[in-house]
Parts: sequence; C-alpha cells; structure tokens
Amino acid sequence: MAPLLFECPPRLTLPIKDQEVRYPVNRIFCVGRNFAAHAAEMGVSVERDKPFYFTKSVAHAILTGASVEFPTGTTNYHHEVELVAAIGKPLHRASCEESRAAIFGYGCGLDMTRRDLQIEFRKKQLPWDLGKDVENSAVFSALVAKEDFDDIAEQRIWLTVNGELKQDAKLNDLIWTIDELVSDLSHYYHLRPGDLLMSGTPAGVGPVQPGDTIVGGVDGLACVELTFN
Ligand code: MN
Repeated sequence: MAPLLFECPPRLTLPIKDQEVRYPVNRIFCVGRNFAAHAAEMGVSVERDKPFYFTKSVAHAILTGASVEFPTGTTNYHHEVELVAAIGKPLHRASCEESRAAIFGYGCGLDMTRRDLQIEFRKKQLPWDLGKDVENSAVFSALVAKEDFDDIAEQRIWLTVNGELKQDAKLNDLIWTIDELVSDLSHYYHLRPGDLLMSGTPAGVGPVQPGDTIVGGVDGLACVELTFN
C-alpha cells in the first residue's frame, strides 16, 4: 500500500472499568428529546410515535478530563448530560431482545450544543450540524461493562457546573428505553461494535462560560468532566 499523504489523528478509544482493553469508537448516534421535561423546556411536545436522531463526528469526540477552548460561533453554548450505550455486537433490523444482548456496556457523556444555532436552524427547518456537531462537543467517560451495571431503573443522572447542580433526573424517565432505541436505529444502520448511542438529556440544560467546569454522572458509572479554558 502506498504511504499516506499525511498522518491522521488517532482514533478515539475509551477505557473500560476493571479491564485491560479499551473500546475503540466507530460512530456516535444521538437521540433528541428523550426526557419529557427536557422536551417541554425546549418548547416542543413529546411524540411517542418515533424517536429522531442526529450524529456527531468521532473526530469531534474527546475523553473525560479534558480542558478545551471555548467554541467560537455561539453565545449560548449548552451542557447536556446523557447515558451512553456502547454496542458490542453487529446488529441489523434487530428486536429489542437482540438489541439488549448486543449492548457491551454504558458510559456517561456530554452532548455539548450551540443552542442558539440549533434553535435558529430548527425554526428554518435547516440541518442541525453547526449546532450539534461542534469540535470537542462529545465527551465520554470510561465505560462500565453491562455485567457490572444494574438494570436501568431509578439510577440518578445529574450534572453540575462549577459544583452547582443543574440537571437531576432518573434513568427510568427516559421516554424510549435503550433497547428500543438501539432496535429502532438498527433498522437504518448496520450497527457494529464501536458504535455509541447518546440517549438524550434530562431537563435543566443551560449555558456555560469560559472557565467553567462541568461534571456529569450516572449512579454506578464513572463521571464525565469537561473544563473550558
Ligand atoms: Mn442531547
């Protein structure tokens, strides 16, 4: 094979609790409006008929603990804490049961968002990319294997900015379960190991500023942390 014209940045890999190996990230799928109270604060009604998705580039994803530049092009950059499901087996047109069996584990993630642009584009019926697929906007904790995590139930999902609690909900308030989402998504993609699903944020999203530190958590999972220079 001919040598490469230039070096590519290395692929993002996530540590796994109590394991020597790491989880290489292939794709990042995100679901919108999966907590009723968050949909309400966004001024939209919840439709239980069908989830909707957007994606983030793996090139824009980083590991917990990073300190990054505050993004340009926004005056309303919002935090969203989310439960992340990590796919561990190939999956296509799968049932909920098959989808559950194909989940490797879970993590905690931040879906950082240029809210001003997202809302402007939503109104104009334009794509969300500049609002959602922002550099350094997908932040991931270490993963926990499914066997080491209880069934999704009343675990708390929360987020603080500079130590102040901003988001606080329970995982069983998710409108679509992880199994339902993975099953649904598998009817549009050949899911494979390395694919991550960010499962939606609870109410309490809000703006962050340069100098802020965000910490997000889910009971039983490692925290996700991000600081802005
Ligand atoms: Mn989100």
